[in-house]
Amino acid sequence: MAGKKNHHCFCCGRDESQVQFLLQVKEGFICDTCVTGLYSYLQDAGVASPAVKAKPKPAKPAAESRKKLTPKAIHAYLDQYVIGQDRAKKVLSVAVYNHYKRLENNLDATDSQVELEKSNILLAGPTGTGKTLLARSIARLLDVPFTIVDATVLTEAGYVGEDVESILSRLLEQADYDVARTERGIVFIDEIDKVARKSDNPSITRDVSGEGVQQAMLKLLEGNVVNVPPKGGRKHPEQDFVHINTENILFICGGAFEGIERRIAQRLNTQVIGFDSAAKQQVDKENLLQYVSQEDFRAYGLIPEIIGRLPVITHLDPLDETALKRILVEPKNALVKQYEKMFEMDGKKLVVEPEVLDLIVKTAVEKKVGARGLRSICEKIFTEAMYEAPSSQQPVYTVTLDFARKAI
Ligand code: ADP
Repeated sequence: MAGKKNHHCFCCGRDESQVQFLLQVKEGFICDTCVTGLYSYLQDAGVASPAVKAKPKPAKPAAESRKKLTPKAIHAYLDQYVIGQDRAKKVLSVAVYNHYKRLENNLDATDSQVELEKSNILLAGPTGTGKTLLARSIARLLDVPFTIVDATVLTEAGYVGEDVESILSRLLEQADYDVARTERGIVFIDEIDKVARKSDNPSITRDVSGEGVQQAMLKLLEGNVVNVPPKGGRKHPEQDFVHINTENILFICGGAFEGIERRIAQRLNTQVIGFDSAAKQQVDKENLLQYVSQEDFRAYGLIPEIIGRLPVITHLDPLDETALKRILVEPKNALVKQYEKMFEMDGKKLVVEPEVLDLIVKTAVEKKVGARGLRSICEKIFTEAMYEAPSSQQPVYTVTLDFARKAI
């Protein structure tokens, strides 16, 4: 029992539970903070070894890769994984590109220089249309830490659930506990619509599920120094806090905002009254979300302060049958490509009749499961095929419409 727990840094005296790691040096131990401190001291004194000194600063690669990553290049990268959603791709590409520019500018900012403020993003789109996929694809592309959190697990401090600071704990973890890198990261907060307050009137009593969480989130979005427990939550009260400045962290918030179309329609209706009917006809009633504006989010229950901190607004389009069919075959990791790969590993070629794809899409539309449901429909069909194929002698395995119909 005694041994491991009692190790402590001979330099600062903190024990194992208070540091990220303890390095054994002969009979004693030294912690990561003290090693870093000693190293900077040696650097200042000009005696740090060149091998260590040559380690690149994190700022440099970001600046270099930004030059290559123009908004168009980011858009083209997203095209490989996400079907359609051109508007959202454009807005995100510019936002990410500017994020890098801002980091670069503010890194060597002098007092007289213009400081670039960040523009956090609000994405509205029906569930299963690619909000998280867009965020994940961007994460893969970037050399900044990135994390996705679900707003529904967050609660106001003091209530059961996760404090908003846990968002930054996760980002810190993604950045391998490097505070400087964390402060340049990107956070995707999903299901922000679920913390909307329930009525348009500010509540007199505390609203644990909604407004309170939004208020708590504000301090992250506003750009403050936030005390973050390194391993998240209140479960480890013995931990020292890490101070993280959120000024340069880019926040992307996403939500389905179910029913917001009604408010958009109402607003548009009142706006076009008095104009000729041509103006009314120009409104695309099938996709009202494209007209979403700050006032609609306010009416939905986001507090004005939060909306003010999310100045870039964009939407995702609903996915029609054509888009769903493309999702099955076109993205780099499209479902059909994944099954083809699995067959290939068995030395077989998988052939899927085009009518099977139509059937999958039709079933997804009928069941109202959208893109999210494509996988489970595919699983039903291809599990059957994957059961049969390995014991067959045929080099080609064809999934016919008849076969697919029986499977689902
Ligand atoms: P949400 O908008 O609810 O965040 P997701 O991004 O999680 O939706 O989408 C669920 C799944 O559906 C994805 O993992 C992906 O397989 C598929 N999908 C949804 N939209 C698209 C799209 N536009 N392009 C390609 N695949 C998509």
